[in-house]
Amino acid sequence: MSILDTLDELTKERKDHIVPKNDDGTLGKAQKITVKPLIVQIREATYSSSNAKSGSAAQPSTRSVLDFDALTIYANITSWIRAWCVLIELETHNDPVSDLRRWYMYWSSLNPDDNETSERHSKMREWVRQIKDHLDPPKEYTPKYPCPVCGHSEWGDMINGGGLWPVKVTYRLTEEGSRYDDRALCRRCQIVWDGADAVAELGEEMVERHAEGGSC
Ligand SMILES: [Zn+2]
Repeated sequence: MSILDTLDELTKERKDHIVPKNDDGTLGKAQKITVKPLIVQIREATYSSSNAKSGSAAQPSTRSVLDFDALTIYANITSWIRAWCVLIELETHNDPVSDLRRWYMYWSSLNPDDNETSERHSKMREWVRQIKDHLDPPKEYTPKYPCPVCGHSEWGDMINGGGLWPVKVTYRLTEEGSRYDDRALCRRCQIVWDGADAVAELGEEMVERHAEGGSC
């Protein structure tokens, strides 16, 4: 994915088709839908009282009208965009969507080097992931092995909580049920395995180390 694709995902509305599944499992008629830019989706999530994410299982009385996690993500992205604009002395208009697009147009005309480009791109990809993880949490599981890097089998502390087995694997499923976007994180040493190959290697290493250590 190029930096421009990532920019579009964050800031540009797109049309898509969905094919609804009927109750009897047959496919319905394809429908055209409009997918809002991710920054708009997270902004809307901040004040949506009816959002259907995991929190909706809470008691109505304790359910917050303001989604603080969404607000934190949105505020963080907004302040990054403002900082990027300030760096190239570009005025901001208090609208992160158009500010980010205007920033990109001007910044890319300044011929940034590869280093800077990849830095900016990876920050933008981080936003995409944060927004998607919030709006549509990935599937996850916890392998019951110690982290092969730090060697620990527990994580966390008394105040923030934690537990056994620090490595958490997350992934997403396509409509057809195939897996993508594999990622693993050690919640103890914060190391990340990014991509299906890296996660597969991690799995092998965990099992191998366990075998070397003998049965306990
Ligand atoms: Zn670790």
